[in-house]
Amino acid sequence: MSNLVAIVGRPNVGKSTIFNRLTQTRHAIISEEAGTTRDRQYGYCEWNGREFSVVDTGGWVVNSEDVFEEEINRQVSVAIEEADVILFVVDVVSGITDLDQFVAKILRKSGKKVVVVANKVDNYSLQYQAAEFYGLGLGDPYILSAVSGLGSGDLLDHIVPMLKPENVERLDDLPRFAIVGRPNAGKSSIINAFIGEDRHIVTDVAGTTRDSIYVRYNKFGHDFYFIDTAGIRKKSKVSEDVEYYSVMRAIRAIENADVCVLMVDATRGIESQDLNIFSIIQKNRKGLVVCVNKWDLVPSKTAKDIKAFENAIRERLAPFTDFPIVFASALTKQRIYKVIEVALSVYENKKRRIPTSQLNDFMLPLIENFPPPAIKGKYVKIKFVSQVPETQVPTFILYANLPQYIKAPYLRFLENKLRENWEFSGTPMLIFPRQK
Ligand code: GDP
Ligand code: GDP
Repeated sequence: MSNLVAIVGRPNVGKSTIFNRLTQTRHAIISEEAGTTRDRQYGYCEWNGREFSVVDTGGWVVNSEDVFEEEINRQVSVAIEEADVILFVVDVVSGITDLDQFVAKILRKSGKKVVVVANKVDNYSLQYQAAEFYGLGLGDPYILSAVSGLGSGDLLDHIVPMLKPENVERLDDLPRFAIVGRPNAGKSSIINAFIGEDRHIVTDVAGTTRDSIYVRYNKFGHDFYFIDTAGIRKKSKVSEDVEYYSVMRAIRAIENADVCVLMVDATRGIESQDLNIFSIIQKNRKGLVVCVNKWDLVPSKTAKDIKAFENAIRERLAPFTDFPIVFASALTKQRIYKVIEVALSVYENKKRRIPTSQLNDFMLPLIENFPPPAIKGKYVKIKFVSQVPETQVPTFILYANLPQYIKAPYLRFLENKLRENWEFSGTPMLIFPRQK
């Protein structure tokens, strides 16, 4: 997935309502796992077989009526830098405001693909009022009622042809690791420490977008790519202190990666921005390594301190807690090569296949001893377990007489057992009950 559509506009025009509507178009091919972080800001939209990512830029800023021009300027600038198509939302009831004019001016200068969305057109009599938005100088306004869905099909029909062509197939199968994290976590420093001056930047890897920078790492018997979000790319005009800036930047890197290294600043711990990035990693079902960087700055490093630090991180990222944490220092290079080793092992875990006989030898007696709870006097019988071949993350099917009665807590119990018995650290996992 390489197309990113950003929704911009002043507060209360309906951005988050539009976001919800667009991201609901995607059929739940596999049902949303229980406990997955559901964030309002980032999701997928599917229309006529095309899939793209959608970001509600309003979701990351304080959404108050008295938003300053400066703040909205940054919000829109990040969208211009990172998105392929921008939906500029305006409100047909309030008409064009000064802030709308201000945004329109930035967008006109950007040369980006922009769609003006005249929202809150709840009935056709309001559509004539939408004509005033031609005055923004950004082309035809598309009318929409995000609440009722009126106009959403036409809007999507208009957006899809504006997207870039889909990714071609990957040329090589080398692992891809994204280094992500909030500003100043040490992303550039660690990539510098790995690659040094002799870095070989690869931008023409098939299946990548022009926006991702791939750095090949080919030494000490390893061969893979780092996907860089901050370091090598020239620092942008937009100031790095924008709250969601690193989150927007991380999206493509995460989408194109196999395993993500989430850089956390040891002196700050896990913050809301880290959680936003984590939730994008989770939503994309990528492998995870947490690298607690700047470990050199932490004064007390007893085993007890380390344990407390680890627990605090796992608590914040729960219910997904089975991932490796490496305490490192990009500055002193302490344990930075451990980050690579661990990322490679997560990559292996993500591809791990358990032979069917081994799987059943372990799972069936376990299930026999701890069967799913009976519901309404009906007993659930799980007869067979198999792993689906060729999936992005390890995926298991439980064949049962009454699959609908197998609930999330029981699936979580089985997942934990699988994780105890085999090495799946850092990789998401899916388990689905099915009718035998
Ligand atoms: P945001 O601040 O731009 O994200 O705006 P929201 O999505 O939070 O919407 C602001 C308000 O406008 C909420 O009360 C929504 O219910 C309402 N709203 C959003 N879309 C529509 C619409 O199509 N028609 C009407 N009548 N109200 C809408
Ligand atoms: P980025 O924004 O995530 O790319 O972060 P940078 O790599 O630019 O690092 C931000 C600041 O933290 C710089 O001043 C670095 O020198 C400093 N820094 C990065 N890693 C470490 C570390 O392990 N220890 C210490 N003490 N400082 C670090």
